[in-house]
Amino acid sequence: MIRVSDITIYHKCPRMCFFTNKGHNLIKEVTPGYLEGIILKELALVYDLAFNSEDKLSILNLELDRILKEIPVIYRNEPGIIDDENLSKSVTDVRSCLPVICSNLSSYNNFFAGELSHNETLQSEKFGMTGSPDRLIRTNDELTPSIIKTGNMPLNGVWQGDRLQLTAYAVLVEEKYNVPVRRGFVEYARCGVVREAAIRRHERRNVLQILEKIKKIQNGIMPEKPKDAPCEYCGFTGMCDVKSTLASRFF
Ligand code: SF4
Repeated sequence: MIRVSDITIYHKCPRMCFFTNKGHNLIKEVTPGYLEGIILKELALVYDLAFNSEDKLSILNLELDRILKEIPVIYRNEPGIIDDENLSKSVTDVRSCLPVICSNLSSYNNFFAGELSHNETLQSEKFGMTGSPDRLIRTNDELTPSIIKTGNMPLNGVWQGDRLQLTAYAVLVEEKYNVPVRRGFVEYARCGVVREAAIRRHERRNVLQILEKIKKIQNGIMPEKPKDAPCEYCGFTGMCDVKSTLASRFF
């Protein structure tokens, strides 16, 4: 089975997808930014508890206290995360984002008031793909996948990688529930902003093409190094500097 996260990684760099499929870990060290991302994601999962409250700030501050206690249990198997000092510092950094988050949340009443289900696992036998959107929103007869992102938000719209991820979830939702999915949401957790993205034909085609390429990667073919690969932020640089196979030239 190909995971939706494989598609996201492939979009960043096909070779990263090759290395993660070989079992190498994408995260080499737990940086403060990585910890912040984990905390923000846990926090964003409970924005629906605060969006319509008069005192969002108190609610989210209490939630951060809870998250600080729970993260070492939830991430017990991931070395480097259970460092109380680093964790407390990252929680403090996230607390400084709360005023902006609270001022934005009430703009998305319709989104948070919908029926939200979390982390439902979806699977497509037809395409050999699986994944769990962060939320699946039910409004009337519409099902809409939503994903939480903890990095920077683009000036307008959503990042292309986020759009592809949403499209892959849309394909999974459609196969399971037999309803068309016309849109998805990206929740930019750091600022409490929710953006809508249309599910377009172009990205549907792109997702299906990427699935075929990932199948080749799973069969052992190393793709070419892309010219614009984000190598300076990549932990695989040491193992990446090898010639690709002849087969990959036809990739
Ligand atoms: S080092 Fe560059 S080409 Fe290699 S996997 Fe990382 S980003 Fe991709």
